[in-house]
Amino acid sequence: MIKTERILHLKSCRGRKVRVVREHYVRERVPCFSALCQADCDNDGKVLPGDLTHYVVPDVGVVVDYLEILEFRELQGIVFTQTACQAVQHSKGRRQYNRLRNLLKDPRHDCVLFANEFQEYSYCPREKGESQEKWQTRCVYSAAVWYHNHLAGMMDIVMITEDQDAVAQFSSLSSGVYVVSVQDYLSNFWMELHAAHELYNSISQALEEKESEGTEKEYTEHLPSEILEAGIKSGRYIQGVLNVNKHRAQQEALITTQASSNKNTDLSRDVLVYGGKNRNRAVHGDVVVVELLPKSEWRGKVTSLTERQGDEKTGEDEKSKPMPTGYVVGILQRNWRDYVVTFPPREATQSQSRNSQRILAIPWDPRIPKIRISTQQADALQDHRVVVRIDSWESTSLYPNGHSVRVLGRAGELETEIQTILIENFIHVPPFSEAQLKEMPVNSPEKPWKVHPSQVASRRDLRGTHLVFSIDPRGCEDVDDTLSVRTLDGGKLLELGVHIADVTHFVPEGSLTDLEARSRATTYYLADRRYDMLPAVLSADLCSLLGGVDRYAMSVLWELDAHTLEVTKVWYGRTLIRSSYQLHYELAQALLNREDTEVPELAPLSPEEKDAKLAELTQALEMLTHVARHLRAQRDRGGALELEGVEVRAQLDAEKNITALVPRQPLEVHETVAECMIYANHWVARKIQKTFPHQALLRHHPPPRQEFFSQLVDSAKARGFTINTSSNKALADSLDRAVDPEDPLVNRMLRMMATQAMSQALYFSTGAQSQEQYYHYGLALDHYTHFTSPIRRYADMIVHRLLTAAVDLDKGLSPAVALATNKELEETTQHINNKNRAAQRAQKLSIELFQCLYFKERDPQTDPSCVADAAIYAIRDNGVLVFVPQYGVKGPVYLKNRDGEVVTVGQDGRCEWKTGSVKRYSEHISTTCSSGTSTFTLFDHITVRISVQPSRCHADSLNLEIISNKPHKSAESQQPHSQGRSQLVQEVVRQAEEASQQAQERASRGPRLSKEEREFCQSKTPNLYSLLEEIRELALMDVGACRDCFMNIMYTFYS
Ligand SMILES: [Zn+2]
Repeated sequence: MIKTERILHLKSCRGRKVRVVREHYVRERVPCFSALCQADCDNDGKVLPGDLTHYVVPDVGVVVDYLEILEFRELQGIVFTQTACQAVQHSKGRRQYNRLRNLLKDPRHDCVLFANEFQEYSYCPREKGESQEKWQTRCVYSAAVWYHNHLAGMMDIVMITEDQDAVAQFSSLSSGVYVVSVQDYLSNFWMELHAAHELYNSISQALEEKESEGTEKEYTEHLPSEILEAGIKSGRYIQGVLNVNKHRAQQEALITTQASSNKNTDLSRDVLVYGGKNRNRAVHGDVVVVELLPKSEWRGKVTSLTERQGDEKTGEDEKSKPMPTGYVVGILQRNWRDYVVTFPPREATQSQSRNSQRILAIPWDPRIPKIRISTQQADALQDHRVVVRIDSWESTSLYPNGHSVRVLGRAGELETEIQTILIENFIHVPPFSEAQLKEMPVNSPEKPWKVHPSQVASRRDLRGTHLVFSIDPRGCEDVDDTLSVRTLDGGKLLELGVHIADVTHFVPEGSLTDLEARSRATTYYLADRRYDMLPAVLSADLCSLLGGVDRYAMSVLWELDAHTLEVTKVWYGRTLIRSSYQLHYELAQALLNREDTEVPELAPLSPEEKDAKLAELTQALEMLTHVARHLRAQRDRGGALELEGVEVRAQLDAEKNITALVPRQPLEVHETVAECMIYANHWVARKIQKTFPHQALLRHHPPPRQEFFSQLVDSAKARGFTINTSSNKALADSLDRAVDPEDPLVNRMLRMMATQAMSQALYFSTGAQSQEQYYHYGLALDHYTHFTSPIRRYADMIVHRLLTAAVDLDKGLSPAVALATNKELEETTQHINNKNRAAQRAQKLSIELFQCLYFKERDPQTDPSCVADAAIYAIRDNGVLVFVPQYGVKGPVYLKNRDGEVVTVGQDGRCEWKTGSVKRYSEHISTTCSSGTSTFTLFDHITVRISVQPSRCHADSLNLEIISNKPHKSAESQQPHSQGRSQLVQEVVRQAEEASQQAQERASRGPRLSKEEREFCQSKTPNLYSLLEEIRELALMDVGACRDCFMNIMYTFYS
């Protein structure tokens, strides 16, 4: 080891320059992390492959400014030098530095860190008079040369730099080491990677623009972080997350404070920040610091009805009494993400400088300010949706500056809009990479997958002893759960078995597939497509518990007393199964009803054999039903809720396919399967919680806050019903009683309100909550988790690993991999909860998108499908909120407009606008004008006209306009809305396909979706049980949305 000195010039926090001399040790051996290493380096962890054409060594400037390009997973063999990494840390701050560190850690990215300044032969001391930049570039070049030599000339090295002098100086110095600019590199090696070229252009333009900024201040400077921290400590400032009101994005933003971090007790409430100047460049989601204004300047929030406000959860309507109001003095953490923006038409172009134009692009999310983008493509991108990132927001700039990342397509087209929804919800679902797919087992006609002998030895083999079968929707491909039931001990005992696909056998923890599944966290269901969490070879094949083939499973087997059904013994573990029957719901129900049916698996048998087998199967199904009824009754006594009941049953008379999906009556078998799954989830939760009291993953459903029930209670009272919300049992019972025989919609809307009042069910780590908080309110269970759908939920995969570890411990074995600590697990559960919320939002948005696309094609004035029946479920200051059952749409209906006109009802019920006033009461709202008074009461049925409120930059929305205060009766509205919904999706998809075909024919298109993206629109059959379970588990979404997800699954299932 050699000691040298290293001189650093640092800036102190007060801005003084300090010269620091540090001892610097260099050594001969510093790992190269290359598979081609000839020198026996200590290469732990990620290693660059040896079969590439070259390695890339980016210069400091490239890493600092163009890191996004290096993040393309296509780019392989990247060596980040220590010099470059330190430069990022110093010049770009923690966030960017962490981003680089994550990149280095992520095995899906083929890049490594080389500690070049510790390597004896690559280190070069700074020369006298040499600028910092020149020296850094020399260091990076020296590192590139070192690699070439260290790998004995077997690998060419390409150094990329934006320093033209360096290109001139170094490019011909050493053979095998090339020095090129980023642009040359991309055009020589990555011609086809258009996205990278576009990104390069937009970043370089943004950098150019930055240099030509003005100096006039538009905003107050932010205070330095020391002052902010001191101010928060002293109580002068308040810290919180900026939350912009999406309906009044220009004016209203709330600071949601973290109660615990806030000393000031009378400020447990949120702080209002009014207007752009007070917001002082903070963007929705940033962690900011505010100072309060004097009380005389406090103001209230606006409370009247605005667009799309129907789905907000508030206990009481906020009256506009003044609340603490403040202004932003500093920002602790920026939470900028990728934003989808729309490029405005030509005339809005702001300024031109040299060869580029500065455009104020409008974000799709109304809460985000306009972003200034410099581009040469302003014309081509008009009315296109583009992904952008914000680079900076200086006090001299009215708007933030950013650069474009990629073009999604023309606004309003189905694919563009779907991609927009994904990006706006941070859903990143690229096709599975080659490296990920390489980890997958092979199952092909030439090389069929077989059970491994070692697995036969280590698993409990149920193939000869247990009659295993599955019950799924007709045509289901991915069977992730199967059941078995048999008598033991001469009929004294019953043995119930639930056998779940053993996904974690195929997906080891930490593998690329595992990391990808973890980051997706769930399969995403949109209205017309889904994005799987796992590659198809697992989800549709080797993990699908198909009939007649050997499969690995994770099983729970209960021994129950045949009379009392008390559990006498539970066994958990890995098994080997072969499902005998792949039943669908109707078939299973027909067998239970002892109807004459054909079981395909029995077709080849002789009549005697067939009868015997059929009797055996029917008996098993009957036993199963018997057990499930008992389990359900047990939970019902505990207070299990079924808020969706009416909702789903109302669809009974639809086409027969849909009838098949209705839980409960008439197909009890749905409930039987679901009950067994809930039971398995419950027992697995108990097992892992007991074994790992501080680090097990469970799922709880917190009891709702009573104030959220006020709307439900008051509305029900208006109709003469009493809703008791004191417990889940009381709520369930009183909802069951609140039935209006004249109008089934009343009960449905009450259940909708109840669901809306619910909190969400969430995953958590047992170490992070106290035992009382484990309770699942909706299912009325003290312990619950997700175990039964590992193919589409990452939480279940974690639970499978925990259960395996628990079983191993019982056997005296220590777990193969260290378990996540409570803290790590809690972080993972937060991530999964966030992803689940994103999945729900994306699903909801995709359904709204389809609704809008459907109505966009119609003329609301002439098309009868634009007129529908609606029921009032809430009263607001200037209108009502209604539910349109035919289309599953909820939204506001205004009774007063901006011109001071109100809706009045004529003799025949027809509505007109006239000058007048509106008055709100608790159960009704009245409009008064010269011709008299009209009243609209809760649960009234009215007729609305549905039209599309188009928006170029944001999502379109539906506009509901009252045309009559009488119910709408037509042939169509008598049909169950379910049918309308699936037709709606089908029709829109068809239209979109036609449009895209025509466009292709014309072959005059702007940027298009890649082929992969199209191929990725998967349409495999989803698992129905899991869906039912989700619905039963309630409180995930409002009932409308639950039904929606129900419908979209049905759509993919039956198309
Ligand atoms: Zn080496």
